[in-house]
Amino acid sequence: MSWVDDWLEKNPAPKRQAREIGVEISYSQLRCYLECPWQFKLRYRDRWRSAHTPPSALGVSIHRALESYLRSGGGSLDDLHQAYEENWVHEGFPDPAAQMEWYRKGEEILDRFFEDDRAREGTIEYLEREFFFPLGPHMVRGIVDRIDRRPDGSIEVIDYKTHLDVKDEEGVKENIQLLIYGLGAEEGLGLDPAWLSLYYVAVGRKVTVPYDRARAADVKRLLERVADCIALGKKFPADTAFCPSCGLNDRCTLAV
Ligand code: SF4
Repeated sequence: MSWVDDWLEKNPAPKRQAREIGVEISYSQLRCYLECPWQFKLRYRDRWRSAHTPPSALGVSIHRALESYLRSGGGSLDDLHQAYEENWVHEGFPDPAAQMEWYRKGEEILDRFFEDDRAREGTIEYLEREFFFPLGPHMVRGIVDRIDRRPDGSIEVIDYKTHLDVKDEEGVKENIQLLIYGLGAEEGLGLDPAWLSLYYVAVGRKVTVPYDRARAADVKRLLERVADCIALGKKFPADTAFCPSCGLNDRCTLAV
């Protein structure tokens, strides 16, 4: 992926020290650092938190409901709705009416998921599966939403998305999060992933691409450089281009 080479060229490796210093790094941390290194410092060093928004509350609720429902072996649509109710996140809504409106949206998403899942041919091997794998002195950590075994025996790594920004196949091939999960399945769980999928549950669409080891190797180089910058870099410069989208821009003193 050419943008990875561009980023590495603009962000040279910090000077190594005699004693190797490793950090644990996840996709969320990588994304946060790429968006704005200062944001990384505020979120992961200073422990600043963002409050839930309606989309984030819905996303967490759907993820938890699907995990709970599928982990218990599935069941009826009522069972899925009950799992949703039990896992509903109440925070982040301006008033009860707005909360109810978002709750109903989630029910519609799950109704669609239920119908689609009845046609599923593969078997679920793992749900919300944590992985770790070493990368130089660092450790990569993540949690994969789901890993399926298809009827032909091949392994498919699946990440649920609850938003409506559906990527085409080209976009999914370059999705860093999925590539890290592919690496996690391969190097952390000892599997042989063949497919990576983004499952857009809000529209009932799964976009699947082959697991591309050349792209995954690019992501490893990026992960290691960012982990080096976090471990050895002395500064976390602000990238103000991200300020308009940043969840901390109402509190950050460097926001523009
Ligand atoms: S508000 Fe701007 S400068 Fe501050 S953390 Fe966010 S992106 Fe970085």
